[in-house]
Amino acid sequence: NVRVRFAPSPTGPLHLGGVRTALYDYLFAKKQKGTFVLRIEDTDSQRFVEGAEEYIMEALEWCGITPDESPKHGGPYGPYRQSERRAIYDKYTEQILKTDFAYLAFDTPEELEEIRKEYEEKGEVFAYNYFTRTRLRNSLSLSKEETSDLLLQKTPYVVRFKMPVDRILQLEDLIRGKFSVNTNTLDDKVLVKNDGMPTYHFANIIDDHLMEISHVIRGEEWLPSMGLHVLLYEAFDWDPPKFAHLSLILKPEGKGKLSKRDGDKFGFPVFPLEFKDPTSGTVSMGYREQGYYPEAFINFLALLGWTPADNKEILSLSEMIEEFDIEKLHKAGARFSKEKAEWFNQQYLHLRSDKDVLEDIRPMITQGNTPLTEEKLLKIVSLMKDRCIYAKDIVTEGKFFFKAPSYYDEKAVQKAWSDSSTSILENLSLKLEITAMNAAEIKDTIKLAATNEGVGIGKVMMPLRLALVGELTGPDVPDIIEVLGKEESISRIRNAVN
Ligand code: GLU
Repeated sequence: NVRVRFAPSPTGPLHLGGVRTALYDYLFAKKQKGTFVLRIEDTDSQRFVEGAEEYIMEALEWCGITPDESPKHGGPYGPYRQSERRAIYDKYTEQILKTDFAYLAFDTPEELEEIRKEYEEKGEVFAYNYFTRTRLRNSLSLSKEETSDLLLQKTPYVVRFKMPVDRILQLEDLIRGKFSVNTNTLDDKVLVKNDGMPTYHFANIIDDHLMEISHVIRGEEWLPSMGLHVLLYEAFDWDPPKFAHLSLILKPEGKGKLSKRDGDKFGFPVFPLEFKDPTSGTVSMGYREQGYYPEAFINFLALLGWTPADNKEILSLSEMIEEFDIEKLHKAGARFSKEKAEWFNQQYLHLRSDKDVLEDIRPMITQGNTPLTEEKLLKIVSLMKDRCIYAKDIVTEGKFFFKAPSYYDEKAVQKAWSDSSTSILENLSLKLEITAMNAAEIKDTIKLAATNEGVGIGKVMMPLRLALVGELTGPDVPDIIEVLGKEESISRIRNAVN
């Protein structure tokens, strides 16, 4: 029975890397007809950020990655928020302290700081481990009486993991294969803090066990913790889940992990939804607000680190589930590309029906004096859609469809306008009066005008475009005239020649 969890800490908004982890968790679970669990790891009250949990849930919802079990959806293994599971952790603290895998450490922060400094002066790095633990104040180095005295005096303590000495752990990762770790390179991690709250490592493995998680699929940054986690399972005499550590998403230049700050620095969103930092008040743009379709966003994300069979690029969520193979995930980091993200949205915009795209942009459209009919609005969508990255661009880049230009772009005037332009356009507008308003006939009229004037077609087309659009952009001029209609087109020409 496959059960996969996504276990974010509500310390801020999910960024790209987090959403991709959730997506791969989800795809793997669904491919195996298993269950996708969302667990909120909020035992670290110092790093807790108000609103982060809601953000995470909303972001997953927007992406269409719906958990089967979560704080919101409930489920048979709840509660799904670690802060509500304190009694459970207390029980397992008691249990592990009865084994040879944990001990109490009474060192004060000052004492630890002192020894850290001592090491630093020698040019070494201090670690609380098999080697140093004998020098420190803990239930291993102190006598039984000393320890009970300290407990009687209510001396604060933490529970530490007693890392075994001289063991070679044989580990296996579904993406990286087999590797080994010498326990002497690992330290005695804190399992329970002096306020009685479990640390990430402790709560995480207890919950993965109790929630019957079969596969732990998470970011590469947790790979160094895998040895400890496997040993914690051993300490409790539990079977560990299978592990898969996902490679990083790299900065566009290919070096270093893509960070939350890169978005602001490079001018692209790294968050799915807009995020307002509660402390600094800065707002970071999200993919949703930028105008991405969630389908395009997750498609883009899924392929940052995975190549589906036949190099297929455009996949719906259900196709991704169908194709997903965890062993095909890349071992190397995936380089983020803004252009690629835009390309994906463009593809989805292209594939979407004109009718649906019109509904996407309808709230943004402000109609002019003579409102455009549904038919014309659809025509605008079909003319503009393939020239745009986001649906909203149709309204901004195609603003001339809704409103006559209020100024003419200076560079465009220099390029398009000549001494003869006024008379050419005046003559043309007379011809347009008697032309049927469809693009083919309009085109013929323009061509004929050029022939009659003895000039190249550009000499007519460019000033005409300038008159209609205000700059030298947009779809074909005859199409524009067809949509604008006779009256509006001629009125714009008149405005331009005057
Ligand atoms: N709470 C951890 C995080 O925020 C979860 C790591 C894991 O999946 O084990 O990334």
